Amino acid sequence: MVRLRDVSKEYGEVAALRGVSMSIEYGELVGIVGPSGSGKSTMLNMIGTLDRPSSGTVSIAGHDVLTLTDKQLSALRANVIGFVFQQFHLAAGVPALDNVADGLLYAGPSLRERRLRAYEALDRVGLGHRLGHRPHELSGGERQRVAIARAVVGGPRLLLADEPTGNLDSRSGAGVMDLLRELHAGGTTVVVITHDRDIAASLPRQVEMLDGLVVEGVRA
Ligand code: ADP
Repeated sequence: MVRLRDVSKEYGEVAALRGVSMSIEYGELVGIVGPSGSGKSTMLNMIGTLDRPSSGTVSIAGHDVLTLTDKQLSALRANVIGFVFQQFHLAAGVPALDNVADGLLYAGPSLRERRLRAYEALDRVGLGHRLGHRPHELSGGERQRVAIARAVVGGPRLLLADEPTGNLDSRSGAGVMDLLRELHAGGTTVVVITHDRDIAASLPRQVEMLDGLVVEGVRA
């Protein structure tokens, strides 16, 4: 699913990644752990093709990211990868159903079809009864479940979550992790950044980062 070869990323003087080689197989559930500033978000940006490496190669679902045009990269992101963020990133004032339906805008089905699939995705995350609720009318845990529904509504093979429980109390966080485990059990490859050691320890594989390098669980 993911193959990084000797990937470095510099931001000016700062080396955020320093020659990382790592693979993630189809169907894995992986935690990326490490202290603040160790390069976790940069790594997720590389895997999510949100940013290009300074050197090295990134291959996602067999596509060499460096050889793709911006348009092809957008298509790869829209069709293969789902994103979940700590801050939810839902559109304010927009009902849950449409927040999720908008996740299909790129794929181009009709509004009716987008809403139908959004309903199914919300139902899957246990929010079939919250379709008309706007983000400010939902709890933090519910907002994150809406965000997960939006991330998976297009059926991505790869789900990337950057500190998905970071803004949640422990009970809501546990619910979100259960949901990610269910998606993994359904065949989705899931990569979770977390600084929560307990969450990390509960995952089948941990990739530990320090100073822009993978120091544990590399399996290149
Ligand atoms: P983590 O997610 O583990 O906290 P990051 O990947 O965000 O680590 O950051 C790794 C290093 O790269 C840090 O020193 C950070 O300050 C730096 N960095 C990350 N993104 C940028 C950026 N856009 N511009 C400049 N420096 C950055």
